[in-house]
Amino acid sequence: MGYRGRFAPSPTGPIHLGTARTALLGWLRARGEGGAFVLRMEDLDAPRARPGAAQAILEDLAWLGLDWDEGPDVGGPCGPYTQSEKLDRYAEVLARLAPFTYPCTCSRKEIQELASAPHGAEPVYPGTCRAGPTHPEREAATRFRMPDPPPAFDDAVLGRVEGVGRGDFVLHRRDGAFAYQLACVVDDHDMRITEVLRGADLVASTPRQIALYEALGWPVLAFAHVPLVLGPDGERLAKRHGAISIAELRAAGQDAASIVGALAHGVGLIDAPRPTRPAELVGRLELARLRAR
Ligand code: GLU
Repeated sequence: MGYRGRFAPSPTGPIHLGTARTALLGWLRARGEGGAFVLRMEDLDAPRARPGAAQAILEDLAWLGLDWDEGPDVGGPCGPYTQSEKLDRYAEVLARLAPFTYPCTCSRKEIQELASAPHGAEPVYPGTCRAGPTHPEREAATRFRMPDPPPAFDDAVLGRVEGVGRGDFVLHRRDGAFAYQLACVVDDHDMRITEVLRGADLVASTPRQIALYEALGWPVLAFAHVPLVLGPDGERLAKRHGAISIAELRAAGQDAASIVGALAHGVGLIDAPRPTRPAELVGRLELARLRAR
């Protein structure tokens, strides 16, 4: 089977330079391998989803010069490509995972108090409800028993990754929503993705997703975690750094080729930030050389 990559944005707002760079790298990887590029809309987090954001993301990506072979707008053989249309499928896979899960009634606040986490870090769930729900009167989340140590993996950018992704994690939330880890694994499997290329902020999700593939008896994919775009202060690029959404740049008169050129230069694909079409960059991406960026 040929290479199949994907880009999986959450429609929580307009895409910015950081998201656009990850999309560009995923597209270049797929095109460089002569493979397929799949677009998937991860809209399960209803409270954070913004009306119109999914459509705006597709328009911004197309404006930048990226295209996709399968996706919410063009369809394809592995659809649906929008997560809110797959709830029955997630429920079915969740049921198959029952031997590896348990109901958890801990609140977010309780977990934060119990877990020793450095400030700002995601707390490691200490397994409080493993022996039975501590608050049987409450709605329960469904948690997956994470192997300890978590599975290690070889990342195409980062090399060997071990010791991240500890702690039992949620597959189905107390509010009834399916969690990202479950939906992402089901979709990457259903969409026959061969390599997951995404931002380095998600590296701790990968051992969890590998553990799910193993529990389900599904083949484990290849992974590539690309560096995040940083703001001038060295922190991950965010809204507070100013007008950085693609839509805002376009409204301010920037052309797509200049944006693509700047993004490509930022990861060393070209030696100067000159106007460039994505198609001109195909064949230049070497994942192992992104590591130091
Ligand atoms: N939807 C996730 C996000 O926008 C990305 C998930 C993934 O690439 O695995 O952060």
